[in-house]
Amino acid sequence: MKFDTVIMGGGLAGMVAGIALQQAGKNTAIVSMGQNALHFFSGTFESLQAPSERLAELFSAAGIRVHYRKGVRLMPLGTFKEAALSLDDIDLFPTPKFGRRVLIVNFLGYHDFFSSFLAEGLEKQGMECRIRFLSLPELDNAKAHGEMRSVQIARSMDRIWEKVAQEIRLLLKDEDTVILPQVFGLLDDTVPGRLRQAIPARVVFAGTMPPSVPGVRTQMQLRRRYELLGGTFLMGDQAIRAHEHDGVVHSIATHNLDAHYLEARNFILATGGLYSKGLVSNPFKITEPILDLDIDQPQDRNEWYNPTFAGEQPYMGYGVKTDEQLHAIKDGVAMQNVYAIGSILGNTRPELGSGAGLAINSAFAVVDQILRCTQNDNEEPATPVILSEAKNL
Ligand SMILES: Cc1cc2nc3c(=O)[nH]c(=O)nc-3n(C[C@H](O)[C@H](O)[C@H](O)COP(=O)(O)OP(=O)(O)OC[C@H]3O[C@@H](n4cnc5c(N)ncnc54)[C@H](O)[C@@H]3O)c2cc1C
Repeated sequence: MKFDTVIMGGGLAGMVAGIALQQAGKNTAIVSMGQNALHFFSGTFESLQAPSERLAELFSAAGIRVHYRKGVRLMPLGTFKEAALSLDDIDLFPTPKFGRRVLIVNFLGYHDFFSSFLAEGLEKQGMECRIRFLSLPELDNAKAHGEMRSVQIARSMDRIWEKVAQEIRLLLKDEDTVILPQVFGLLDDTVPGRLRQAIPARVVFAGTMPPSVPGVRTQMQLRRRYELLGGTFLMGDQAIRAHEHDGVVHSIATHNLDAHYLEARNFILATGGLYSKGLVSNPFKITEPILDLDIDQPQDRNEWYNPTFAGEQPYMGYGVKTDEQLHAIKDGVAMQNVYAIGSILGNTRPELGSGAGLAINSAFAVVDQILRCTQNDNEEPATPVILSEAKNL
């Protein structure tokens, strides 16, 4: 099977690259092994300020609604964190005190939402909280099968949100704010907005234990958009080996395709960091398992760890080495047609941001580089994109 570009990894970075390349008329495939960081997503895009026109257009075409306002957001344990660009269902407040009296509503049998921690955190900010549980027979089936997880509950909530709103109206006394677990809008992202309108108080959705409902929805929206544009999404498959000659990769082997290799002009490595197995570690070193790329990590193992357990751990910032155009480096040499994007870069490219910002900025930078090279193949030698000028593309 032949493509213009094969992308390994279908997280945020891989999906953005795939969509942007398809939009530019390229024929791509994404090999996607499994869960990615979006399944843990808070709904806030780290290190991105207002979306660039290009990102706004990509999100809007995929049906992903975002808003931008500097402020603080409520975290699942009742603390607050600064945030800016966020999905529409995430509220941002100018200060951590956003109400006087708060009703926190949970569902009987659902343990992945920490109502008492939330109440404790909000009371520290001077808000008065009352916690109530709704008993919903519609969740009995999930309860009986031990499936009271956010995504299973969200499947029911998109159907019964009007009933939930009605029950909450009956529960409300003099509260000005209602907090609900973020289990609405998995399949229909208009539900959180409609629920807000149906309750005569400010409605705030607070994060739950993973999987993150807004994150899973975002992943589904990106995938739908990619496939609508004609991209080939190989779900549940794993890139296992690359076939290269003189620093040029001509095909990769995947677990499911057996001897049918994926051939392409370009390959993008978007396989994530240690969490997603884009990088793997043993007691002696961290490696990149598909191409055995060079990793930016100190030789001295004592430097890997911060002895303060709760502190930031240096090893989480290690990533594959790349040149200025994000070509991956192997044995000290930049591979001509292999690029690395997203969290597999670790903290090696701070100029491109961090978290979701890094995933998106590096994806756009590599897409531009690939498009420029293809264009220049028919014209003059390629002019590289200068990444230090490419932030927030
Ligand atoms: C737990 C967690 C929560 C986070 N929350 C946020 C947040 O709320 N906001 C924020 O801005 N950032 C957050 N981040 C940072 C996050 O890394 C980025 O936001 C971004 O989503 C990363 O995208 P990615 O595509 O680079 O990597 P990933 O999302 O890790 O995706 C990589 C994908 O590649 C797949 N893969 C790995 N190896 C192979 C292979 N051999 N073949 C095929 N597929 C493969 C993995 O299974 C995975 O699906 C979070 C990170 C983690 C780990």
